[in-house]
Amino acid sequence: MSEVNQYLSMGSFWIAALLACLGLGFAIHYRRQLRAMRRQPDQARGRREAILHALAQGSRLLFNTSDKDHAMSQALRALGEAVNVDRVYVFENHRDKDSGALLASQRYEWVRQGIDPQIDNEDMQGMSYEEAIPNWLEPLSSGQPMYGLVRDLEPIERSLLEPQNIVSIAVVPIVIDGVFWGQIGFDDCSDERDWSRAEIDALEIAAATIGSAIHGIREEQELKRQVRTDALTGLCSRREFLDQARKAHRAALETGQTLGLLIMDLDHFKSVNDNHGHPVGDRALKVFAEVCQKSVRRDDLVGRMGGEEFAILIPDVDRSSAVKLAENLRKRVEGSPVQVENKALSLTVSIGLALSSPDEPGFSDLLKRADHALYEAKNTGRNRLVAD
Ligand code: GH3
Ligand code: MG
Ligand code: MG
Repeated sequence: MSEVNQYLSMGSFWIAALLACLGLGFAIHYRRQLRAMRRQPDQARGRREAILHALAQGSRLLFNTSDKDHAMSQALRALGEAVNVDRVYVFENHRDKDSGALLASQRYEWVRQGIDPQIDNEDMQGMSYEEAIPNWLEPLSSGQPMYGLVRDLEPIERSLLEPQNIVSIAVVPIVIDGVFWGQIGFDDCSDERDWSRAEIDALEIAAATIGSAIHGIREEQELKRQVRTDALTGLCSRREFLDQARKAHRAALETGQTLGLLIMDLDHFKSVNDNHGHPVGDRALKVFAEVCQKSVRRDDLVGRMGGEEFAILIPDVDRSSAVKLAENLRKRVEGSPVQVENKALSLTVSIGLALSSPDEPGFSDLLKRADHALYEAKNTGRNRLVAD
């Protein structure tokens, strides 16, 4: 009996020991889990703070630096490092000219060292949402971010992302003035990382900041374009023409090439306005600009100097070719009447030509000679070319 008791008590001891071990194991596991669970929000919060910090740094650059392209790549780098991904990029939306389908083209990119850049990948230019990422179009265009593991996506999206070695991705729409302008994307090419809500919230703030920076960049570019371009004819403006002409003149002196300069003024243009009205005058100026564009070589530059006065810059030209070009243009203008109601309104132009010379270092002297030649052309009957 006592032996039975002994066995029983030994059995209980082992059971108790086993239970104790199990309990301890479970307690350790549970504590680890609890610690990991507590760490997760900390990690997410840490990442979110890092993203916001990078964003503050990036936006200081974006809004205060004049070289916006450089600032944008710095901002993407700061974001990429803070989010701890391998690639950050910005796509801009646009429409297909024929079908009207929504397309996206990559505009900016940062990649971690050792990761293949995609900015020169032709598939990333004019990418059709419907064809490449059909399941993302609706959510993205309604302002919703898309994120997750690539292996969990639909086959069509996977076939775009897997060849770029993307394992986990987050894409946030960029909305400018209420319009779905494009997207900012974050690729992880090594880790099957999960994206926390806190991180995605920070990435949405990043998308909004990058969006407003791009909006500012575009407005600035548009203003510069307006300064460079003549609104009526689309030719370059006086200011742009003179800037380019001074540069071309310096280059010609350095290389020993000859630069040709034509200054042109439409004849009796006041009477076009007086007889047919200002809108017809405007149309005539457009026709003249088109004729000029069609008459020049690829490297020549046509500008509107103001009113009905225009100029053409002809780099690397000899005297006889420049004379031929100017003479052809004069004849072409004479033969390109402007249609006014049922009548054809003829235009003529007077042209002054001057060629650069190694003995004359100042561009203003070349300009003066071309102007003087034009004055001569006007004084000797108009509709003619005078070469200095
Ligand atoms: P000339 O043969 O001596 O050059 O005579 P002109 O009549 O062409 O010269 P003038 O300088 O007296 O007149 C230029 C005219 O060009 C006057 C102005 O109304 C007109 N003009 C200048 N800019 C524009 C424009 O943007 N649109 C239109 N429709 N007319 C313009
Ligand atoms: Mg005139
Ligand atoms: Mg004039």
